Amino acid sequence: MNLNEKLASAMNDQVNAELAAAHNYLAISAYFDANDLPGFAQWFRAQSAEETQHAMKFYDFIMRRDADVTVGAIAQPKQDFASPLDAIEAGLKMEQGVSAQIHALFALAREVQDYASQSLLTWFLDEQVEEEDSFRNLLIKTKAAANDPWNLQMLDSELGQRTEGSEG
Ligand code: MG
Repeated sequence: MNLNEKLASAMNDQVNAELAAAHNYLAISAYFDANDLPGFAQWFRAQSAEETQHAMKFYDFIMRRDADVTVGAIAQPKQDFASPLDAIEAGLKMEQGVSAQIHALFALAREVQDYASQSLLTWFLDEQVEEEDSFRNLLIKTKAAANDPWNLQMLDSELGQRTEGSEG
């Protein structure tokens, strides 16, 4: 079954949205490195790598459905933040935006009765629940440690344990 044109186009946009997320997280990682918090930087670097995997999941799906992928432009990411909390809040906001995009994709896949796309998107619905949860947890921990340099260092060490390919 051919991929519906409107759905193929929306999935193409999602490839770009996930790559833009990867780009943004890499910029946040660089912000933390510049502010001597290498553990936070590592956490966001791993998050960036995960977003690239998300992009490739859509990319591969589009290809397997015999449709074309067009790689688009990515805007300059924000790299100056007022505080670690500010940077993490930006991440949470971005994930909430991605969740809304996935919801819209799922609604479209239902509308055109593309069951294989719904199956792919079910994975992404679950993934977004995890992403938002992990950002909220990170926000809570960072809020608790924000005004205490020692606790912030402890949290930095903990976050530095995250490796590429693991959830935050
Ligand atoms: Mg993603």
